Amino acid sequence: MENFNAKDIKAVLIDIDNTLLDFNKCATECIRLAFNKFNLKFDQNTFSVFKVINDELWLGIEKGTLTKKQLHEVRFNRVLKALGQEFDGELVEKEFLLNLKECAIPVDGALDLVKYLSKKYVLCTASNSFYQQQVNRLTTAGIYPYVSHMFISEIVGFEKPSKAFFKECLERLSLDKNQVVMIGDSLTADIKGGLDFGIKTIWFNPENKQATEDCDVVVKSLEEIKNYL
Ligand SMILES: [Mg+2]
Repeated sequence: MENFNAKDIKAVLIDIDNTLLDFNKCATECIRLAFNKFNLKFDQNTFSVFKVINDELWLGIEKGTLTKKQLHEVRFNRVLKALGQEFDGELVEKEFLLNLKECAIPVDGALDLVKYLSKKYVLCTASNSFYQQQVNRLTTAGIYPYVSHMFISEIVGFEKPSKAFFKECLERLSLDKNQVVMIGDSLTADIKGGLDFGIKTIWFNPENKQATEDCDVVVKSLEEIKNYL
């Protein structure tokens, strides 16, 4: 970790959900709004149930065993089933996504970090998601003006952690592997993806999870990233 050297770094790829924007806080609020609309029961347990199912489904997308369309079809049907509530999950999903498009709660220190990084590097977001939605959310959060490139899987054409995703980013930047660093909270998508492709990685690990990948740097707060970049 002490060996991390930023001298060749020209561009920073940074994940959006749960790195720059607090997806968990947003999702909780958006589920609450959707459940209220359809008179479904929402309590403290609802988000944890959603999170387990959602994480599992996203892992499927990373592995290529599930499509996003399938995720939207099954996600809230599974959540409602697990909660013992009967309702059309796809309707809840639609309402949830509508709310999510608007929701943007920054992670602590995110705005400060993007201001700092954008002065020193070409700052790029790298996210498995939908382009316009992420533009809207980063704009609401005040982050969008600091981003030079939005590498969003929907327009890049590939998902993290595939090598093709990172290759496409570097081609669009006309940079080599040693000139780019990937920052993100996901060991599977961001860190393993970056490592397998051969670029430096910084793992944002605020919950102190057990490391299963050999990243270059681990930080608990976004603030700490400034010590390395
Ligand atoms: Mg993330």
